[in-house]
Amino acid sequence: MRFPLPDSARLTPAVRIQGDTGWVGRSTAALLLSAFQLALVVPTGPGALPAAAVPAPPEAKPNSADVFQYPLPTWQPHCLGFGSEWRYCNGTPLRACASGQVWLHTGTDEVAAVGQPVVAAGDGVIAGYLVDPTFRGGVLIRHQTTAGVVITQYWHVWLRSGFTVGASVKRGQAFADIADMGDKTHFHFAVFNGDLESHTWNGALPPSACSGFPAFPYKFVDPTAFIEAHLPPVRLAHGTLF
Ligand SMILES: [Zn+2]
Repeated sequence: MRFPLPDSARLTPAVRIQGDTGWVGRSTAALLLSAFQLALVVPTGPGALPAAAVPAPPEAKPNSADVFQYPLPTWQPHCLGFGSEWRYCNGTPLRACASGQVWLHTGTDEVAAVGQPVVAAGDGVIAGYLVDPTFRGGVLIRHQTTAGVVITQYWHVWLRSGFTVGASVKRGQAFADIADMGDKTHFHFAVFNGDLESHTWNGALPPSACSGFPAFPYKFVDPTAFIEAHLPPVRLAHGTLF
């Protein structure tokens, strides 16, 4: 007896995300999912209950306001991570304090292609859009989570037509596209654990306060760790949530 595999089982993020070989937890989830898929096509023995007849335990379903996802389908590190010295890939510093201390990167840079769609990391409202001649477009999305306001920051993108400051976006909705920066083309993503203010825009901050800027990390948090901690639960057999 064969059960048709639901689309949701094939398209779970655990098997869609590529290039993240360092994520043991997600690899484990993918393996468990594979086992689940195999189990679906193994004939059930006499007296075995169909999966649908097994009562599911109560779900610990998170509030949708607290669920986030990666804004790109792949998450492949570019030159700079969270807290890296703010330098071009060739090592040239972008900004330093008068003391010579190179500023530190508030987000993570990821490999991306020109024109690639960028989706909202969570449900929220577009809180700002800036265009910079060097860095192209920057977008801030404000998220009201149960733990407080969080702002996600997207740089080197162009806001899509139809999206303006004040517009609501849903998690997974494409609202921008990767801008062309030639051989420097990449995607920058940051997470600011606080409400909108001038420093929410910063792609880097000084290692110790200088020039009117607060010291890194200020209210920025590791964006990859934040997303990993807020991913949608992966449904396995019998309502098990991971
Ligand atoms: Zn960056």
